[in-house]
Amino acid sequence: MRFNLKDYIDCSPLQAKVHCVKSPMPKTLEAVFLDRDGVINEEHGYEHRPQYIRLLPGAAAALRRVNELSIPVIIVSNQSGIARGYYMQDYVDSFHKQFSEILKDFGASIDHFYYCPHHPTAGEGDYTRQCDCRKPLPGLLERAARDLNLDLENCVLIGDKAIDIGARARAGCRTILVMTGYGKRDLDSWIESYRPDETASDLAEAVELILKATNLRRLNFRR
Ligand SMILES: [Zn+2]
Repeated sequence: MRFNLKDYIDCSPLQAKVHCVKSPMPKTLEAVFLDRDGVINEEHGYEHRPQYIRLLPGAAAALRRVNELSIPVIIVSNQSGIARGYYMQDYVDSFHKQFSEILKDFGASIDHFYYCPHHPTAGEGDYTRQCDCRKPLPGLLERAARDLNLDLENCVLIGDKAIDIGARARAGCRTILVMTGYGKRDLDSWIESYRPDETASDLAEAVELILKATNLRRLNFRR
């Protein structure tokens, strides 16, 4: 089932104008950015033990569709558990290795992982500071764009939280909010600057939307 902000929120004409404006998906797709928890796997808060990785239905197959087109799949996630002292950076790296192994069993893969280990106030160590990479700030997207020579205007960001979509405001990606994870909850507290371009029930539907709109040519991408 498709969720549409216009149907989901009882909009006044003014609110409808604010909440429900859509930008078209890019015709040329250079990369797909994704939040991790709540989009690909079940959300478990700060839990990082691999035995808690539960892929959401259809998520691996959706990633595989993107992989088969040689379009890079890039995770961008906030990992403030590092700043908070819940776990070390190595632990997140090893979690991502396990995550990749699980996806591999389904023929899917992630090309790059980018994450922010910081928090502006929580914790006491080096990672407790204002940074430019904690979403909704666009630092992770901009770093990936520099590293991989991507034009963010030709990328799509899929997330389940307002802070994922907010990154779009300054980075230029098109955005899709999925209703898995915190997606439904965040619709209730929606504000203008976080509006997505599209909504989808889950990752599979989001990928379907992207591929339908895109002619799948890639420009200027060097791996
Ligand atoms: Zn950061």
